[in-house]
Amino acid sequence: MGNDYRSRTSHSKSGPGDAGKTGSWRILRPVIDPGVCIPAKRGAPACYMCWLYCPDGVISRSIPPTIDYEYCKGCGICAEECPTKAITMVEESSFIKEDK
Ligand code: SF4
Ligand code: SF4
Repeated sequence: MGNDYRSRTSHSKSGPGDAGKTGSWRILRPVIDPGVCIPAKRGAPACYMCWLYCPDGVISRSIPPTIDYEYCKGCGICAEECPTKAITMVEESSFIKEDK
């Protein structure tokens, strides 16, 4: 039944917004370089390690992958896990002018 924990899978994945709008927590912003990102370069779905490891589920499995900055808390796990180092953590303060 719905409340029987045994009927659930052992793996759960959080979704965007499960922890609230965590984007305001961010000091560093992950930025994907499409020139290095595998699906962006191939023009085909591939890799998506960033999507797999993001604890907040805010990265899309699209070409190229996109990050929902409203919920990304800037933990940097995606950058750590990216096999091609396509994700750079950039100081949030450097985007202040852009965002206005
Ligand atoms: S882990 Fe890196 S190379 Fe793979 S899809 Fe994400 S940004 Fe692209
Ligand atoms: S920094 Fe990367 S792994 Fe962390 S919440 Fe943002 S998109 Fe997800």
